[in-house]
Amino acid sequence: MRATDHVGPFGDVEGQLLVGGIPLDRLCERVGSTPFFAYDRAQISSRVAEVREALPERVALGYAVKANPMPAVVQHLAGLVDHLDVASAGELAVALDTGQQPTGISFAGPGKTDSELRRAVAAGVTVEVESRTELQRLIRAGKELTLRPRAAVRVNPPFAVKGSGMRMGGGPQQFGVDSEVVPSLLGEVAEHDVDILGFHVFAGSQNLSAAIIEEAQQRTVELVLELAQHVRGTVSYVNLGGGFGIPYFSKDQRLDLSAVGRRLTSLLDGQLVPALPEATVVIELGRYLIGEAGVYICRVVDVKESRGRSYAVVDGGLHHQLAASGNFGQVIRRNYPMILGNRVTDAPGGPVTVVGSLCTPLDVLGEQVDLPRVEVGDFVVVFQAGAYGFTASPTAFLSHPAPAEVLV
Ligand SMILES: *Cc1c(COP(=O)(O)O)cnc(C)c1O
Repeated sequence: MRATDHVGPFGDVEGQLLVGGIPLDRLCERVGSTPFFAYDRAQISSRVAEVREALPERVALGYAVKANPMPAVVQHLAGLVDHLDVASAGELAVALDTGQQPTGISFAGPGKTDSELRRAVAAGVTVEVESRTELQRLIRAGKELTLRPRAAVRVNPPFAVKGSGMRMGGGPQQFGVDSEVVPSLLGEVAEHDVDILGFHVFAGSQNLSAAIIEEAQQRTVELVLELAQHVRGTVSYVNLGGGFGIPYFSKDQRLDLSAVGRRLTSLLDGQLVPALPEATVVIELGRYLIGEAGVYICRVVDVKESRGRSYAVVDGGLHHQLAASGNFGQVIRRNYPMILGNRVTDAPGGPVTVVGSLCTPLDVLGEQVDLPRVEVGDFVVVFQAGAYGFTASPTAFLSHPAPAEVLV
């Protein structure tokens, strides 16, 4: 996809990008300062509707809060999805504040502290245990509070998912309990100490291939059915993960969501539901629900030439939007889609390198980007900034102010 292809869902008027129907120059006045992140409420809603349309009706749709934990965003999504997945006590507090039922919240992540486990047990959410010792500590927390913890075992599968931007399963991992150890682990726990509801398998993220996602889901369901035989009670929870990717780079093709949905329907109807009829099947998505609905907006502070190369220096940078600089998990640095948000319809004016204001050569937002002729005061808009933007950036680096965030 080209950068200008990303304008479509936002819209534009008189050369200004629209976010939530508001022209960028006016939105900027409303926010009061640049840089800022803006998330388009209507786009979030329509994305959830698309996903619901494509996935089997019986799937409980989950939002992985770590993709974007802004409370207003989580509140908006809580009203649209069935499930929230959190990965810290801080995210748990945001999720509970939305009014989401605790039975519709799961808590994953390695290194949960005793205090986090106690808070999760007291809240009544499902703890996705990542190790034997964590399960033991969870049981202890339950005894101390005289509450029976709700738990699922996060399983590190025997397979890896190819083509994932970030691999989180297969081989040795800090995530989950190795699948071959799960039967003995389940054999050790006394039923009255903890309620083992089922399993969670999340093997990787940012996958754009329907075929690979389908294969991962197939193998995950087979694994879960095998492990389910070792659960004493009823399996009521099967979290199949997600990993649906979004197109960041010009060569990326959109994920064929309807293909994933069709295949999942036959997988559930044919295999999972007959064997585990009482299980709630969760698909948890982060970036797919929020990534494309967000933009990062900064203002051009300086335009300069250096030995034949044009530079636009903006008032933001990698301290707010690390991923666009190529330093958040990318192997090869490629440009995120970006435009001049106040010159949406202007013709290209030749390549310009967009750099942030940090005193480090790492702070490149776009290398040799084909933008209209840039002037001081213009708005640089980075697309695909709704997930892992502000939340995944080293905000303290170089002591600039934090960016604002708005849900429009
Ligand atoms: C990060 C994470 C997700 C979300 O991943 P996306 O790529 O944003 O969809 C889902 N589940 C778990 C357990 C995670 O850690």
